[in-house]
Amino acid sequence: MRTLTGKDLAAAVRERTRAAAAAGGQPRLAVVVATDDEASLWYVRSIAKAAAGAGVACDVVELGPHARPESVAETLARLSGDPGVHGVMLQTPLPAGASAQELAAAIDPAKDVDGANPLSLGRLAAGLPAFAPATAAAVLALLDHYGVELEGRRAVVVGRSTVVGKPLAHLLLDRNATVTVCHSRTRDLASVTSRADVLIAAAGRAGLIGAGHVAPGAVVIDVGTNPTEDGGLTGDVDAAAVAPVAGALTPVPGGVGPVTTALLLHHTARAAAAS
Ligand code: NAP
Repeated sequence: MRTLTGKDLAAAVRERTRAAAAAGGQPRLAVVVATDDEASLWYVRSIAKAAAGAGVACDVVELGPHARPESVAETLARLSGDPGVHGVMLQTPLPAGASAQELAAAIDPAKDVDGANPLSLGRLAAGLPAFAPATAAAVLALLDHYGVELEGRRAVVVGRSTVVGKPLAHLLLDRNATVTVCHSRTRDLASVTSRADVLIAAAGRAGLIGAGHVAPGAVVIDVGTNPTEDGGLTGDVDAAAVAPVAGALTPVPGGVGPVTTALLLHHTARAAAAS
């Protein structure tokens, strides 16, 4: 079985981003944070660190875990109107009662580098230019990097969130894959996933995908990042069980994650170049 790591691709994307940043004005990403969730804050720190390595300025705008939805929306609108800011991202989770989808509507689609504004998903669905959520884009980038053929092949996505599953389904359809989307109400998940040439697990359930879920030789992309008791991360795929069956598998960590962060910054450089 082939292990499809994301490290080299992420480094190549960061290098392209650095070159684009050096050629034009300084791209700047603003990340709006209204949580004290430790995993989320860790992710934001990792974005800031990767940004420094990719020549992208990164402002973390901390509103605190008790921020009112109106003040989050106002902040997103203000940053969207700031000509010095090229990318705006809203980190989740949000304070109770706040809807990420509703608030993300305040992000200018031209600066919506993580594809969170519902308009971006609508444009993606309509086949119009838009930033895809960085995670969905990272899955496609990994498949391309490793030369995985999509045209005419059966792709099964487990998960239908607006951040991963739905945009990914559109991206795969655009590449002429035959796409099936599964979710928590799907009956007999294994009977659907085991017909996939390309299986993408994005459910957020550790070990959901076992050997019986995978066709011999299938390419399996594990988007899941589930915290483990020892402070690490594990995917949605039971890697030890699936390895003897699958043709290829992405590791967690070190697969989709680093490419996601690199593409978020690359989107910011593209937004800066277009501004
Ligand atoms: P989410 O909003 O919780 O959505 C999970 C989806 O999985 C839902 O559509 C849900 O179905 C489905 N699902 C849950 N349990 C299932 C089951 N037993 N069988 C089949 N489907 C099931 O999560 P998300 O934001 O899309 O994230 C998914 C995973 O990706 C998480 O582990 C997250 O941490 C990870 N993630 C990774 C990255 C990265 O860069 N690597 C970035 C973003 C997210 P229903 O719709 O029916 O509830």
